[in-house]
Amino acid sequence: MTTKTAIITGISGQDGAYLAALLYKKGYRIVGFVRSSGNTDLRGLDYLNIRDQVIIEECDLLDISQIIKLLSQYKPSEIYNLAAQSSVSLSFKQPIGTFHFNTISVYNLLEAIKLIDRNIKFYQASSSEMYGKVNSLPITEDSVLHPVSPYAISKASAHWTCIHYRESYNLFVCCGILFNHESYLRNPNFFVKKIIRESIKISRGELDKLLVGNIDISRDFGYAPLYVEGMYLMMQSDKAADYILCSGKSAKLRTIIEYIFQKLSIDKNRYQISNELYRPNDIEDIFGDSSKAKQLLSWDYSLGVEEMLDLLLAEELKNTHL
Ligand code: NAP
Repeated sequence: MTTKTAIITGISGQDGAYLAALLYKKGYRIVGFVRSSGNTDLRGLDYLNIRDQVIIEECDLLDISQIIKLLSQYKPSEIYNLAAQSSVSLSFKQPIGTFHFNTISVYNLLEAIKLIDRNIKFYQASSSEMYGKVNSLPITEDSVLHPVSPYAISKASAHWTCIHYRESYNLFVCCGILFNHESYLRNPNFFVKKIIRESIKISRGELDKLLVGNIDISRDFGYAPLYVEGMYLMMQSDKAADYILCSGKSAKLRTIIEYIFQKLSIDKNRYQISNELYRPNDIEDIFGDSSKAKQLLSWDYSLGVEEMLDLLLAEELKNTHL
């Protein structure tokens, strides 16, 4: 049997590392695209012990000729497109750069597939943020998109680009519409990772207070190592489609802080609201329904938010040296 090749863009990110580890276990040859081979942080691959199992290639996803060259060279059967400017907060400061990269990179990848080999399967990292101003909950694959940040607008545009290529050119394109998912490898700028890291510092006397923005909003949080299994399952399905991956429940950010503080025996008032950390617009509450993925893909997910926080806290404590 010939080994299947999978390309992962955004291999240096949280999901890229966990997905690479999963695909390696499944026997794939993995090619990871990075924007700059010289200074990309690949500590996620090191942490999961798969750095040597991944072929790293520099590829500017805004340059279609580089993509065409690498697809011709590696002949992948699957491409997982995870590369994106992924921060909602940063997207308010860099709206044009966020929109430009998060949309044109997707066009370039899909055009390259159309030109090189229409049998290559394509996964796009869509986001629950696309739903934004919600009319009714839970969110399903049929809910109306109403993005409320430059990040969400870019992801909605890329999402519709994917559907267009699936419907117009019959390409195998799946969009995984993922709700927030966390892990030890999450970038420290993101809420849950920041709260856990900084709370540990407070508990060790290294930090006085946690500075936070609007913590009266709620989000549906899940566990990244289990979400990448859903990505893989989508690509093994006979029919390309879009699927929501979520936990099915939302938790208020304030409750998450209180839970971590209580676990670390930190006094309740050791956080401070900073108006500077508020966003110009935000989703108040959002949670999804992943019945479609559970029924059609047999995606298995049942972790509650507290169980997930316990896992993350334990891993962070294990890796935080005094
Ligand atoms: P992440 O940790 O922030 O990783 C993002 C990846 O994209 C990194 O490898 C980064 O490379 C790359 N990237 C960013 N800007 C780039 C650019 N201009 N050119 C080339 N590469 C660029 O994100 P993640 O949490 O793994 O998420 C993976 C994907 O899922 C993203 O598309 C994200 O938007 C989407 N998503 C994530 C969540 C979530 O909760 N995690 C939820 C829904 C959707 P560098 O190392 O070079 O910066």
